[in-house]
Amino acid sequence: MGLTLLALGIAGYLVTSQTDLIGGRTHNIYPLGSIGLVVLGALIAVGGVMMSQAGAKSASQLKCDKCGMTFGSKAALDQHSKDKHGMKAA
Ligand SMILES: [Zn+2]
Repeated sequence: MGLTLLALGIAGYLVTSQTDLIGGRTHNIYPLGSIGLVVLGALIAVGGVMMSQAGAKSASQLKCDKCGMTFGSKAALDQHSKDKHGMKAA
């Protein structure tokens, strides 16, 4: 997450640079600006994937029927059921 924020900061710097360039010379398009947009777009895509993964993880959280504990994966729930409740993993 820290790396993502760092990368976002760099992207923000690039976008700011592009904005300054556009403000100074509205008729020229600089490669640096395009690169900044590409980097920003890639970061947004990566961030979106990370956020969707985090959302999917919390959405797919499994709850133990016996004691109500929640687990991030079926394997963890199965292991818990076996250890705490003596149930065989599926
Ligand atoms: Zn349990």
